[in-house]
Amino acid sequence: MDILRDQSLRDLNTFGLPAVARWFVRASSSADLLESLDFARGNGLPVLPLGGGSNLVLAGDPPGLVLQVGLPGFDVADAGPQGVLVRVGAGEDWTGLVDRCLGLGLYGLENLALIPGTAGAAPIQNIGAYGVEVRNVLEGVEAVEIATGAVRTFDNGECAFGYRDSVFKGVLKDRFVVAAVTLRLSRLPVVSASYGALATELSRRGVAEPTPIDVAEAVRHLRRTKLPDPAVTGNAGSFFQNPVVAPGIAGALRSAHPGLPTFPSEDGRVKLAAAWLIEQCGFKGARRGAAGVHPSHALVLVNHGGATGRDILALADEIRSAVFGRFGVSLAIEPRIVG
Ligand SMILES: Cc1cc2nc3c(=O)[nH]c(=O)nc-3n(C[C@H](O)[C@H](O)[C@H](O)COP(=O)(O)OP(=O)(O)OC[C@H]3O[C@@H](n4cnc5c(N)ncnc54)[C@H](O)[C@@H]3O)c2cc1C
Repeated sequence: MDILRDQSLRDLNTFGLPAVARWFVRASSSADLLESLDFARGNGLPVLPLGGGSNLVLAGDPPGLVLQVGLPGFDVADAGPQGVLVRVGAGEDWTGLVDRCLGLGLYGLENLALIPGTAGAAPIQNIGAYGVEVRNVLEGVEAVEIATGAVRTFDNGECAFGYRDSVFKGVLKDRFVVAAVTLRLSRLPVVSASYGALATELSRRGVAEPTPIDVAEAVRHLRRTKLPDPAVTGNAGSFFQNPVVAPGIAGALRSAHPGLPTFPSEDGRVKLAAAWLIEQCGFKGARRGAAGVHPSHALVLVNHGGATGRDILALADEIRSAVFGRFGVSLAIEPRIVG
C-alpha cells in the first residue's frame, strides 16, 4: 500500500473539479484500511473517506488524508426460505452490484440501478430512487472507527436513516469508515413499481405485470434519458434535496402556485419538487462561465469544463437566494462540500 503525496483528485470526482489531496491512499484490504488509519492517527491527520466521488463538491483541497475505500467482497448466505443476506465490500461498484444480484436472481435493488458510486457510500446518504431507498434492504453496516481502529456493526435502526440522511451524516459524521454492507434480498421476484415516472414508463412499454428485470430496464432507460453522464459532463446528480415542509406550508404554496408538484413524505410532512422551484426561477439551462444548470434537468448542476468548486457553489448560492426570495423555501445542498 502506497501513501501518496499531492495526489490530484480531478479524475476521482464525477464533477471533474480540481483539488489536491496532501495525503492519499487507496485501501484495498482490511489491513490497508487499518494501516491507513494508524498513519493518519500517528500524524494527526483528519481522514476523508472517498468512494467513487459522485456525491462531492471539492471546493478546496481536503486538509488531511484522503482514504479511498476499495475493499472488495461479495458473499451470499441463505436467510429463511426465500431470503438471502448479501455481504458486500465497501469498495464494490454499486451499479455492478445491482446487475450482479439481478443476474443471480436476487431481488430488491432494481429501482436503485445505475446510481453511481460504491456500496460503502450507499448508507451514508441512504441512496434512493424511483420509490426505493437502500434502507429498505439494508441489514447492517460494518465500519471501522477512525479514532481507534475498532470495528463496529450497525443494524438498520442504528443507522437512523431518513430522506438522503443517516447517522453517518449526523452525529457520527467522519467518525467511521464503512468497510462492508449487508443487504437482505429476496429470491422471490417482489417488485416496487408504483412510483409515478416508473409506472408511466412501464405502461409506455406495455408491461402490465413487471418482473424485476423490467423494472431495472425501465429505471436504466429513465436515468439515461434524464441525467447527464458524468463521463461526458461533470455532475454529482441531484444537487439539491427536495424540501420537506409542514402540510400547512405546502397547502399555502400550492394555492399560490397551483403547478407546484408535491409528494407525501413518510413523516406526515410534504415533499416539494426542488426542480420545479428552480425552473420557475428561470435557471434551467442557465450558465455562469463553466458552471451551469443542466438544460433538461433543473436539479442537476454541471461542470461544462474548467469550473472550480467555488464556481459551482456560487451558482448554487444564486439559485438558493432566488428560490428563497420567490417561494420562501430553503434548498439544502445534497452532495458533501469539501474544502
Ligand atoms: C449522475 C448521478 C446520478 C445520481 N443519482 C443518485 C440517485 O438517484 N440517488 C441517490 O441517492 N444518489 C444519487 N447520486 C449521488 C451518488 O451517486 C450517491 O450519493 C453515491 O452513494 C455516492 O457514492 P460514492 O462512492 O461516489 O461516494 P463519494 O462521493 O465518494 O462520497 C460521498 C460521501 O460518502 C462518504 N463516504 C464514501 N465512502 C465511504 C466509506 N466507505 N465510509 C464512510 N464514508 C464514506 C464520503 O466521505 C462523502 O461524505 C447520483 C450521482 C450522480 C453523479
